Amino acid sequence: MTTHGGFEPVFCTVVPPHVLDRLARNDDPALSGPARRTLVRDSELRARRRVTTEFSLAAAPAVKAPSDQPLRTIYDAGHGTELPGTEVRAEGRDPGQDATVNRAYSGLGATFDLFLKAYRRHSIDGDGLPLDATVHYDEGYNNAFWNGEQMVFGDGDGEIFVDFTNSIDVIGHELTHGVTQYTANLTYYGQPGALNESMSDVFGALIKQYSLGQTAAEADWLIGAGILAPDVTGTALRSMKAPGTAYDDDVLGKDPQPATMDDYVRTGRDNGGVHINSGIPNHAFYLAATALGGYAWEKAGLIWYDVLTGGELSPKAFFTDFAGLTVKAARERFGDGGDEFQAVEKAWEQVGVRIL
Ligand SMILES: [Zn+2]
Repeated sequence: MTTHGGFEPVFCTVVPPHVLDRLARNDDPALSGPARRTLVRDSELRARRRVTTEFSLAAAPAVKAPSDQPLRTIYDAGHGTELPGTEVRAEGRDPGQDATVNRAYSGLGATFDLFLKAYRRHSIDGDGLPLDATVHYDEGYNNAFWNGEQMVFGDGDGEIFVDFTNSIDVIGHELTHGVTQYTANLTYYGQPGALNESMSDVFGALIKQYSLGQTAAEADWLIGAGILAPDVTGTALRSMKAPGTAYDDDVLGKDPQPATMDDYVRTGRDNGGVHINSGIPNHAFYLAATALGGYAWEKAGLIWYDVLTGGELSPKAFFTDFAGLTVKAARERFGDGGDEFQAVEKAWEQVGVRIL
């Protein structure tokens, strides 16, 4: 018996399929080879998820109150594909020689910290779920993912992508897919899918800002800064401040994200543009957070978290449904007389999402 009726885990990789598709068509085998291998591996993993999901969800619930400490274990796949691999760092152990292991450990800790300290949430499931991660997965693997049970990081091919543990927001992005699965469970297609992606970018960015102690004005609002190889013309995978400007590279192409509904992309690829149109709710969050000022996780983040976990957000929500709930949550949290709900309303207006 499972208590997770309708629960559909997302197999979300950091690098969207449309980016790898383009790389796989490149004339240079040094570029197309790793991209092709990564695509094949990802499709195998996606298929395997469907088979094993039921078992992982039927796991027995914890009996005691969850701890305020994370429970992290880092494994090393040694460039193979066996998961989880060899245990290399358990919770509470000192850092070792391998910087990748140490970054994965810190990234899991930073994610746990934001959700606990800002929102009193205990881990991904709200019930102290242990956080496991495997590093050095496969050879030249151009991706990182959360498979519903653990995080997995590739080292990149060194040509286009480098070590995926380099971006703390990438780690936060993937783990937030877990939070979404356990809460609003947004369907991974079209607008609800783009909202699902946006939740992961929003909390991924907040995890980075929280760990660095940055205000909304100080933050770079980039997702995946540090995972592009030095020769790539670009700063990151996505920009919440200026969607569509993260990269413009002869091999990688141009960042396809719109910032407003005027440029909404209708496509069947990428699950109906989940990594593309997420630029619109991403930008709305950026506008609300910077208008409110201070630390973004305290006001805008709290409002978004209230909507994600509050129980009113439908798995099939459109942007307009989500926008309406954020305005409602802002009023409930901060009152009818405050600036908060007005800032949220204005942010959605600026990206062209009408609130019904
Ligand atoms: Zn994602």
